[in-house]
Amino acid sequence: MVQLSRLRSRSALVAAVALLLGAGTAPVVSSPAAGVAGTTAGVEIVGGPRTGGIDRVVEVLTRDIGLPLPAGTRVHVYTTREAFRRGLVKDAAMGEEGADELAAFAIGIARPGRVLLNGRLAGGGREWLRLIAHELTHVSQFELAGGEGRAEQWLAEGTAEHVAFQVLERLDAGSLDLHRRLALVRVQRQPAFAHGRLDLSTLGSPRDFTLRHQREGSVETYHLTFLLADYLVERHGFDKVVEYFQRLKRQSSAVAFRSAFGYSIATFESQALAQLQTAALAAPAAGD
Ligand SMILES: [Zn+2]
Repeated sequence: MVQLSRLRSRSALVAAVALLLGAGTAPVVSSPAAGVAGTTAGVEIVGGPRTGGIDRVVEVLTRDIGLPLPAGTRVHVYTTREAFRRGLVKDAAMGEEGADELAAFAIGIARPGRVLLNGRLAGGGREWLRLIAHELTHVSQFELAGGEGRAEQWLAEGTAEHVAFQVLERLDAGSLDLHRRLALVRVQRQPAFAHGRLDLSTLGSPRDFTLRHQREGSVETYHLTFLLADYLVERHGFDKVVEYFQRLKRQSSAVAFRSAFGYSIATFESQALAQLQTAALAAPAAGD
């Protein structure tokens, strides 16, 4: 979906924690996108010289992790916010109003077969690589599921974050374990989690997800989705998560979830909440 620009007002505390653990905290918000300037593994990169790292991410994503990207996938990189806004209209077929709104807070968006990125993070740093990997994972999810918007949004976002950190780890630019530890600290500041709830039914659609992460904290909510995906990966293996997305081609999300993992989303919700509460208790308190 759409990747949000990091909310810098979220304090030095956040930055300090991230720095301390050496883990990325970039919130992820995904939505629509597209583009290409060179070609790597069948992916076209559009946007000039500041596209470093895209080829490396594509290679790890497709060859090492085994996620599919449709032939002719495009990654568009725009050098300014205004260029990004125009790209949303021209390359992602968004309306002017929606593009204005999105360009104001988002830095990346995924659509079937395309990713659009505001290139202000471009340069090959960790956050740039994470953004590319996150959005390209959404493109892969659309390909697996046969379209947009079929998956539970919390699982689509959590899986995109999880894959992004798998990619960073393979590129020696990050660590899944360090990110997990950071997320267990930060999730304690997520309002619903702090009150002993997940309320996954209101994180399931893109619209509801956006409303909640804007209200409850983007960074904290993305950390929560990462931990939920991580729980499924640890318990069932990454292949089962991929299978869930594949099943969406022919099944509803509820049926696909039960078929892939063996229990309902409601059962998952109560079990994952209990497990995360226990794990968070063992982690340093938020603010430490
Ligand atoms: Zn996303």
